[in-house]
Amino acid sequence: MTKSEFNPIYQTLRMAMMQPHRDGNGGETEDVYFGVLGSFTEAELSAGTALLMRERDRKWFPTTGEWLAAVDKAKALQALTPVAEPRGWTIECDHCDDTGWQRYFCPGDRTCGRPSVHASHDFVRVCSCRPTNRTWHRHHQAGSRA
Ligand SMILES: [Zn+2]
Ligand SMILES: [Zn+2]
Repeated sequence: MTKSEFNPIYQTLRMAMMQPHRDGNGGETEDVYFGVLGSFTEAELSAGTALLMRERDRKWFPTTGEWLAAVDKAKALQALTPVAEPRGWTIECDHCDDTGWQRYFCPGDRTCGRPSVHASHDFVRVCSCRPTNRTWHRHHQAGSRA
């Protein structure tokens, strides 16, 4: 998150809490808060700020620790919300169409690894995408043989 992203969120909460700041323009205090909260993304901080502004008993601008806790809470809440899988089928691997098996054609020579000449045939090999193919993993969870 950049300071220019941070500033509007900071100002929003400051206005919401209606607390005058000792350093006049709020600039120095803002730097202190940015030092603590600047590592969050803008979306994370916005979500935490929304939680703070909805706290019924809150009357004052939060401490850095309170704001930090609110962002952590917002992140935890979001983690509980399942992300919907995108509709529509997308193939992750063009080589195997996410089956985990890459198809080859052997004209009958040693392409497939057999030592002697033989009739042409199709054969498959384990596709190199398996370690990273999420679709393949989804279909091969829980004990099924690869
Ligand atoms: Zn593949
Ligand atoms: Zn062959």
